[in-house]
Amino acid sequence: MYDIPHLDLPPLNGASGTVQLPGSKSISNRVLLLAGLAQGTTAVHDLLDSDDTRVMLDALAALGCTLRRDGQVLHVTGLGGRLRQNEADLFLGNAGTAMRPLAAALAVLATLQGGRFTLRGVPRMHERPIGDLVDALRPLGCTIEDLGQPGYPPLRLVGTAGGQLNTAQPIRVRGDVSSQFLTALLMALPLATEAGDVVIEVVGELISQPYIEITLNLLARFGITVQHQGWQRFTLAQGSAYRTPGRIRVEGDASSASYFIAMGAIASHGGAPLRIEGVGSDSIQGDIRFVEAATAMGAQVKSGPGWLEVHRGRWPLAGITLDCKHIPDAAMTLAVMALYADSPTRLTGIASWRVKETDRIAAMATELRKLGATVDEGADFIVVQPIQAPQPWQTAALRTYDDHRMAMCLSLAAFNPLAGGAAAVRILDPGCVAKTFPDYFETLFGVVTADPAQVPVITIDGPTASGKGTLAAAVATALGYELLDSGALYRATGLAAQLAGVNPDDEAAVAPLATRLALRFGRGAEAGRTWMGEREITDELRLESTGLLASRVSALPAVRQALQGLQLAFRRAPGLVADGRDMGTVLFPDAALKIFLTASAEHRAERRHKQLISKGIPANIADLRADLEARDARDQNRAVSPLKPAQGAKLLDNSDLGIEDSVQQVLDAWQQRGPLNGV
Ligand code: C5P
Repeated sequence: MYDIPHLDLPPLNGASGTVQLPGSKSISNRVLLLAGLAQGTTAVHDLLDSDDTRVMLDALAALGCTLRRDGQVLHVTGLGGRLRQNEADLFLGNAGTAMRPLAAALAVLATLQGGRFTLRGVPRMHERPIGDLVDALRPLGCTIEDLGQPGYPPLRLVGTAGGQLNTAQPIRVRGDVSSQFLTALLMALPLATEAGDVVIEVVGELISQPYIEITLNLLARFGITVQHQGWQRFTLAQGSAYRTPGRIRVEGDASSASYFIAMGAIASHGGAPLRIEGVGSDSIQGDIRFVEAATAMGAQVKSGPGWLEVHRGRWPLAGITLDCKHIPDAAMTLAVMALYADSPTRLTGIASWRVKETDRIAAMATELRKLGATVDEGADFIVVQPIQAPQPWQTAALRTYDDHRMAMCLSLAAFNPLAGGAAAVRILDPGCVAKTFPDYFETLFGVVTADPAQVPVITIDGPTASGKGTLAAAVATALGYELLDSGALYRATGLAAQLAGVNPDDEAAVAPLATRLALRFGRGAEAGRTWMGEREITDELRLESTGLLASRVSALPAVRQALQGLQLAFRRAPGLVADGRDMGTVLFPDAALKIFLTASAEHRAERRHKQLISKGIPANIADLRADLEARDARDQNRAVSPLKPAQGAKLLDNSDLGIEDSVQQVLDAWQQRGPLNGV
């Protein structure tokens, strides 16, 4: 997950491989609430772990549900319809799928059993309407206080034990602003069926009917059958009671699949398709119908239970005209696909975009224009013209409006080389994808290809103990780039020689070892750990003795040659920070920014001394200094790739600089020289 101010995507030119989708947000939060209200324990498999599910989990815990994690499975023990806490102040972030159904369920429970519940969220949540739901609940006898602007959260739901709900009349709810209001009532009102059947009537057109289908499907899994006539009148039978199904699996998120379906249609050409696992032909989510829309634009899609395979079909894509009421969220992806078409795309029936995480019509129009597109917008439609010669793609810094879908959609603009562009794309606040798909960008980088020459590189070379490693890691984290610690490759080669009982100066014996190191660098939870074959070598790698071995094997030309391919392969999207001795001079001479980092021998010896002492390893400053000066001399004087500043390198002496200052200096220099310079 990229918790950084912006992420720069280089121009991308292909996509293939397999992605595993995170669980569906809509299914996850519905399942959590139903499991939380049901009697008994539900084992929830493949639950989405994201901002929106986290606020729901926090709310359930605050209400007295028991949550127990067991690996990938979450066990939820529900309330069995009986409140355990009669007061709670719940913060629900920007999760409409938590706010609306919890408001309804707690309003009903507070009225029947007594309680006082406050529901609030982030400022944007307080601009997202809930009035239609409140208007449906008040005639039932629920007391709902507006704590801010009437019709919007925050809300307070209050009641005294023994209250009655007036369910004799049908409960009327508007269906044309958000289907979540109807979903909320359908999930809450089984609690109110003691006295008789409860009928809900939809007033006006019902939008996003597929989401209601998900609700009904999941209610059925929890023992509640809902009769409905024409999606206008829904009847909950007297005595309805939630019963846990025991175990339930959350399918992958079909809206999240849309980005990879689009990616396949745009960029999976020639070789293998893009395979998407977690959602497929058996999906209960309405957004799976995005496949039809993408196919109409040119995608070739095969599917089976739990999987999709997408390949480019028609190219350029075809513009389409589509009423998107049935796929409100995934439809945003069509607006970006439209840039790659050969005729305009007109999306209608999207008024609901205006009340989502942001005003998505305005946001989409503004950002697509920055890329060079001509866009028309109205109250409930958007028309996007493709970006075609002679009007070029523009390198742009794109805002995401704290809206996960804006970030994911806009990332697709990075494939512009396939449509004649050469534009880099900056995604501002990429971390907003955490709402539904925390690893979206990592997943994307796992399947895309770029022309290596277009992947930006920052090199950081310098003598031993100059702090290169720490600086490079911090810069890579700040930019979301890959990191190459080239010293680790020489260290691993030295270790491999030692383990094989080979003399580290024997070029003919060591070089073959270097070609088959089988190194694996940990990612995510395993970041910072290294394996050689099956053996974890994290600690051995950092030993002084290994450093000395490395310095010997690295003087052998055949070893340096053997490690070249491995090092060059680190140059992949979104970019690379490489540290070592010859990164700027030999490996990446075209790097956009080269740093030569130094510090006096005295400072470096002191730092190394501190490091060793802090690890409980006895050390002597004078010996360390002599040692590192000898190593400098060997690195500087060897015949191949001697240590020296690369041409055009920025010299940075960090003898008296803290790490944060050094990082800032490099980031400032990058701002001047990187691909988004001046944008
Ligand atoms: O940077 P580190 O101390 O891990 O590197 C270990 C040794 O590997 C260095 O002393 C140097 O001799 C060698 N090395 C190299 N070229 C690189 C990186 C490291 O020769 N690019």
